[in-house]
Amino acid sequence: MPNRRQFLVAGLGLAAAPLLTRVATGAPPSDTAAPLGAKPISVRAYGATDATTPLGPLQIERRALGPHDVLIEILYCGVCHTDIHYARSEWGQSRYPCVPGHEIVGRVEAVGSAVTKFKVGDIAGVGCMVNSCGACENCLTGLEQYCLKGPTLTYN
Ligand SMILES: [Zn+2]
Ligand SMILES: [Zn+2]
Repeated sequence: MPNRRQFLVAGLGLAAAPLLTRVATGAPPSDTAAPLGAKPISVRAYGATDATTPLGPLQIERRALGPHDVLIEILYCGVCHTDIHYARSEWGQSRYPCVPGHEIVGRVEAVGSAVTKFKVGDIAGVGCMVNSCGACENCLTGLEQYCLKGPTLTYN
């Protein structure tokens, strides 16, 4: 009987490697003077392109940093059963490409102009939710996961 971790890895066909990393993608950026995060970037990822084919290496686009954003190089992440549901669209709401993995640990590579709590080189952790409106009735009572405008989750 495989243990839970073996089951999760086998279920997704995952390599034991970070799922999303900002590593050189071949051609150097045309504008090397632009600071990291100032423009959208293409990153390596490991994910699903649809609900049935095996996961594999991908290139995905990440938007430029907003003022409150923190760009991290993902070093490690968890892969839990929610990721399997999303990778296989078992809840019918997945968007592809889908890169499984949340509960992330990474190293800060760039910060937005309004960020004060992180600086380049810091180690940062990311949970299953990264944002909410902060102003609705639920957010103001500490229930950001029920944000009336919809929290920003790291799944999918
Ligand atoms: Zn989880
Ligand atoms: Zn809210």
